[in-house]
Amino acid sequence: MEKKISGVQIECRHGDITNQDDCDAVVNAANARLETGGGVAGAIHRAAGPELAKEARPLAPIKPGDAVITKAYRLPNKYVIHCLGPVYGNDKPEDKLLADCYSNALNLAEGNQVKSIAFPAISTGVFGYPIQEAASVAFDTILKMAPTLKSVKKIVFVLHSIQDLEVHEKVLEEEFKNF
Ligand code: ADP
Repeated sequence: MEKKISGVQIECRHGDITNQDDCDAVVNAANARLETGGGVAGAIHRAAGPELAKEARPLAPIKPGDAVITKAYRLPNKYVIHCLGPVYGNDKPEDKLLADCYSNALNLAEGNQVKSIAFPAISTGVFGYPIQEAASVAFDTILKMAPTLKSVKKIVFVLHSIQDLEVHEKVLEEEFKNF
């Protein structure tokens, strides 16, 4: 599914975040230490190679809502933007912290002349954020920011399962009615 707002294309696709060769930057659902781990962080560090952890180490630890940028090494992108999502039910207020991840990542993308960026569904794995609520926070933040973006022209949501893709498509459709 593709939508356009203020010249910014927003797309949901089924896939793997390490495979997005049409995007300048990919976002990592990172841990505070910016190390490899399970889920997205494990996949990104495995695909990028050990140089990624080496560059990221001095930037850690990061706090919920923070974003930092590194090169992407063996990934087919220029940059990885590492975001620490909130742990649902623990880091509060979780909706603001999750929105901060998306806005901080987009601000870093803008500052680095990124034209296209791919996000995973931050916090919806091990961190337990319900997928529909998380999608709503993500799209609300992005649709509000879209008119301010100058460099970023394409934002892709990469969903690991068909169910998560369907939820995101439905929420994006709904959110669009509010803009
Ligand atoms: P968090 O710790 O922020 O919850 P996770 O990595 O555990 O992050 O999961 C975030 C989301 O990314 C989950 O919905 C999970 O299903 C999904 N996911 C896991 N691996 C991948 C991948 N390789 N590409 C895209 N999405 C993925």
